Amino acid sequence: MSNINSYEEKNAILPGVLYLVATPIGNLADLSERAIKTLSEVDFIAAEDTRNTAFLLSRIGVKKQLVSYYEHNKYERGGVICERLQSGESCALVTDAGTPAISDPGEDLVKLCIERGITVTSVPGACAAVNALILSGMFTSRFAFEGFLSANRAERKRRLEEVKNEQRTLIFYEAPHKLKQTLKDMHEIFGANRKIALCRELTKLNEEIMRTDLEGAVAYYSEHEPRGEYVLIIEKISEIELEASAFYAEMSVKEHVDHYMSQGLSKKDAMKAVARDRGVSKSEIYNELL
Ligand code: SAM
Repeated sequence: MSNINSYEEKNAILPGVLYLVATPIGNLADLSERAIKTLSEVDFIAAEDTRNTAFLLSRIGVKKQLVSYYEHNKYERGGVICERLQSGESCALVTDAGTPAISDPGEDLVKLCIERGITVTSVPGACAAVNALILSGMFTSRFAFEGFLSANRAERKRRLEEVKNEQRTLIFYEAPHKLKQTLKDMHEIFGANRKIALCRELTKLNEEIMRTDLEGAVAYYSEHEPRGEYVLIIEKISEIELEASAFYAEMSVKEHVDHYMSQGLSKKDAMKAVARDRGVSKSEIYNELL
């Protein structure tokens, strides 16, 4: 266990610590005071795209050693970063935009540091997924983050099937060149009426939230070219659809009871299970069977 706040100054940069520093997803003013302090004071910065980060640093007047850490060098470079941390240097990890370790290689560096007993802490800020969710107008108390879907169509459709009956709001990241096909696949699997919020260019000048259903989204993008970065928020399955998709949807109450009895339940327990599935009282099931 590590306690990051056991020093006098809460925001002091400590030796041997990895700082996960969130950077803006489009609006430079979202870079926090603490993020600036951390980027200025660490010994070095590991960056997913050193050119992007160099630009960010020049805007805030910080000069610092940058080490590239991205998908294709993460295994070799992760070890080197850990060695430097273990020798007492402090490091800030910044990814392309937003919160490190959300749909980017930061996740692997965090795991590696934890395995090696290195303290990891966060300097929070923007995250596209959370901003899209709160702007969607959908149910936010329970949600599931699905990140990017596979570029492989069969794999993508398999994943969509898997979450079709999800009872939490779904969050997907999507690249503009894949958006049209993804919307078509979602339309096919989730159905035309499922609500969607397409959250585009968040925090930028041309931020746009389109709240519609999958039918409307497919129709719109058959006439418009997708531009910019997108987060897709999909409404959870409705109670009516969920009920219709249940395995017993096509069964009579008697067939439903027989189904459980064929699995070895007594008649009494089978009736109890049916009542629970259908959300009705046991006496209703009993009356139905008379
Ligand atoms: N770590 C980042 C975060 O905290 O959100 C996400 C990194 S992921 C590689 C990049 C994806 O995030 C984009 O393809 C897009 O789906 C989403 N994204 C990033 N910035 C966005 C923005 N300003 N508006 C909408 N989506 C954005």
